[in-house]
Amino acid sequence: MPNAQTPLSPQIYALLREAQDMRVRTPLGGVFYLLACVLTWWFSNDPFALILPGMIGITAFTLLLGLRLLHQLPQAHTQVALTRWLNLHWALILSTALSWGLVQAIAQQHPLFSSSAMVATLSTIAFSTAMVFSFAMRKGRAICALLLLYLPGLASLAWDWQANHAVVLTLAFYLSYLLLALTRSHREYRATLQLEQQLRDQQAHLDQLSRTDSLTQLGNRYQFNSLFANMVANAKRQSLPLSLVLLDIDFFKRVNDEHGHASGDLCLNAFAERMRQHFRRDSDALLRLGGEEFGVLMPNTPLNEAHQLAEQFRQALAAEGFDLQGRNLPLTASLGVGCYDSHRDTDAEHFFKRVDAALYSAKNSGRNRLSLAQT
Ligand code: GH3
Ligand code: MG
Ligand code: MG
Repeated sequence: MPNAQTPLSPQIYALLREAQDMRVRTPLGGVFYLLACVLTWWFSNDPFALILPGMIGITAFTLLLGLRLLHQLPQAHTQVALTRWLNLHWALILSTALSWGLVQAIAQQHPLFSSSAMVATLSTIAFSTAMVFSFAMRKGRAICALLLLYLPGLASLAWDWQANHAVVLTLAFYLSYLLLALTRSHREYRATLQLEQQLRDQQAHLDQLSRTDSLTQLGNRYQFNSLFANMVANAKRQSLPLSLVLLDIDFFKRVNDEHGHASGDLCLNAFAERMRQHFRRDSDALLRLGGEEFGVLMPNTPLNEAHQLAEQFRQALAAEGFDLQGRNLPLTASLGVGCYDSHRDTDAEHFFKRVDAALYSAKNSGRNRLSLAQT
């Protein structure tokens, strides 16, 4: 089963799941076809007289088994690659089914197979039953495979209606059961797949919730931790600049004390909205790191660009403040800004500490200002 964390689209997930299920179920069938062919030949009236057809059959089933085993799942999980793999694998299954259908038809017709014709018939029943329960992912294709497997032998038996009509009728009756069972099996397979899909969606939704700050709808600290480590690793690997802006609202405790906690919450929300309006690039990640402390991760952004954007944000905030319940509330923030430096920052934590130190230097030198991390 594909990892539930993997961000696959529902269509690709369904194709991948189908391909994996087929891949798991297919080798065993291949072995049994080969075995049934050997038994039908060996228990015939005269296996040595039938050496040529015996060897042709055994070679064909060995080849088909080999192809099934060699047909590994594609590396790329794309719609084109998976669809191509599934089509090819179904072609192998249909070829095997037809080959066995012909073996049974020949075993019914050829007088030297009279002693092993029953082996072939019983094998056909076993194979078609297995087909119905193992390969119900695609109904149309499975019906095709079932008919290729079943009809040549049935037609061959019906040829001598007088002698075989009871067996033919029984087999036809069983075929109708198999078709019904296939329909149900297919429905159940699709329902299971749909259920898995719903579980994946729910899991993704819960994951999203666990990464979102409920007050501001920005990413939370947990989200920051995973994003930050990934972005630092990317910046290091690709030698691209990664900037980090840390923002801490000044004297926020006073807002709570003077206007109440609920107003403080409104203020935090408005601060987050202002961040969204200002840091607008899709690649920027906006986060609430805790309390009245926020962060912006800016991939592919050199220090001077991050500095400029952050400084504009600080100035606009200091100039405009917030409208809180009809009154203007002056508010400022202190900011630390830095850019990842692979020579200097031994790891992500070191980089974070460097920018955090800049933020505290901004606080200590009077607040409402921006400090650049030391380089
Ligand atoms: P400084 O300039 O040194 O940063 O001063 P400050 O008052 O902003 O910082 P301090 O760390 O002393 O206080 C932070 C305040 O933020 C205290 C806490 O009540 C408030 N706060 C933290 N989280 C929330 C929240 O979710 N809602 C509200 N309303 N207030 C919060
Ligand atoms: Mg503060
Ligand atoms: Mg703080």
